[in-house]
Amino acid sequence: MGPSSLRDTRSAELYARALNVLPGGVNSPVRAMRAIGRDPLFVVRGEGAELVDADSNRYVDWVLSWGPLIHGHAHPDIVAGVTDAAQRGTSFGAPTAGEVELAEEVARRMPAVEMLRMTSSGTEASMSAIRLARAATGREKLLKFAGAYHGHVDGLLAEAGSGLATQGLPASPGVPAAAAASTIVVPWNDPDAVRAACAEHELAAILAEPMPANMGLVPPAEGFLDFLRNQATENGALLVFDEVISGFRVAAGGAQEATGVLPDLVVMGKIIGGGLPAAAYGGSRALMEHIAPAGDVYQAGTLSGNPVAVAAGLSTLALLDDAAYTRLAAITETLADGLRQAAGDHPVQVQSTCGLVTIFFSAHPVRDLAAAQACDLAAYGRWCQALLARGVYPPASQFEAWFPSLAHTDEHLERTVIAATAAFEEV
Ligand SMILES: *Cc1c(COP(=O)(O)O)cnc(C)c1O
Repeated sequence: MGPSSLRDTRSAELYARALNVLPGGVNSPVRAMRAIGRDPLFVVRGEGAELVDADSNRYVDWVLSWGPLIHGHAHPDIVAGVTDAAQRGTSFGAPTAGEVELAEEVARRMPAVEMLRMTSSGTEASMSAIRLARAATGREKLLKFAGAYHGHVDGLLAEAGSGLATQGLPASPGVPAAAAASTIVVPWNDPDAVRAACAEHELAAILAEPMPANMGLVPPAEGFLDFLRNQATENGALLVFDEVISGFRVAAGGAQEATGVLPDLVVMGKIIGGGLPAAAYGGSRALMEHIAPAGDVYQAGTLSGNPVAVAAGLSTLALLDDAAYTRLAAITETLADGLRQAAGDHPVQVQSTCGLVTIFFSAHPVRDLAAAQACDLAAYGRWCQALLARGVYPPASQFEAWFPSLAHTDEHLERTVIAATAAFEEV
């Protein structure tokens, strides 16, 4: 069975129509699957950890909407929470009890968060966190890491991961020179580069994914997050952790809880909305009370704290107890080990942490964006196509993580490893 055996007539028809009315046929670039050399598959349904496409192909889904669906598709508790909320009204432009409950729950989990402000997307949350960091420090410059992705904020697209890395774009046209000039980009896991940048620039913030997953998963080297904490403090900059992926995934309270390194501000998204559009940024009371109407840093949103999205977030977090993280860690490890076994003698690196896995087509461990870019991307693409033909849906880019979930069963794991083993024969 080769890649060509994937039935995709209906998806191809929908894609042809989509190309007429949506740029590139999609509403977010990585969905186009160009990096693995095929056209997108249109989805009709998700059930737990499985996905059904327009041609009735069924897959084990390792993408799960790129992170939000830690309980898989259409978990009954989350559907019930969302349905109940929608029946009471989908938006009021006035506060509701659910927003308070969700903020209290996040503050209980995340040691660095006393207060938070909700937004509708992670992009908005990181944009707003930066505004706050600039207001609080009276400085403009930001330090970010090559291969990190913080949403499509003008000043943060330089050497960004995710879709930009997938398309090999160093930045985007349309970003004002001034926005780009206020961002300093250094390699991840490179203390000397951070030290030099801190010595040269007055920084408002050091912005990091504490568990970077947008160049594939590239964990921090031992002590690197502590080093960032110290550099920020010594230089009068705020440390901002973008936990849009790692929050509520690598541990109940995100990477900050798992590592004990506390940032000044935290950006959240994905799981906090349980598959609906919700995100947030938070930190200490002193910092967050700069935000209007408590303070003078302006930020607002028609659908911020939307009651349906909040209900999805609350139902999602309610299911994430200690036992859930123990189970998620075990599922992740089984997947990582299985992929290693499937690869046999093929030169790959399987890097993982609770809830995240990347298989890099590389003979050496991947510690930064340059190493991720040096992977055999063509081989990864062929392997992904062979997986799809065998009913396994992987991230269609080497620069994204696999998202193990609590809906993945032993049977899903076995099917994946069998398909992965066979797929390596087509690489
Ligand atoms: C997905 C992501 C974002 C952007 O969130 P959107 O909701 O897509 O705007 C920001 N930061 C990280 C680390 C992400 O993975």
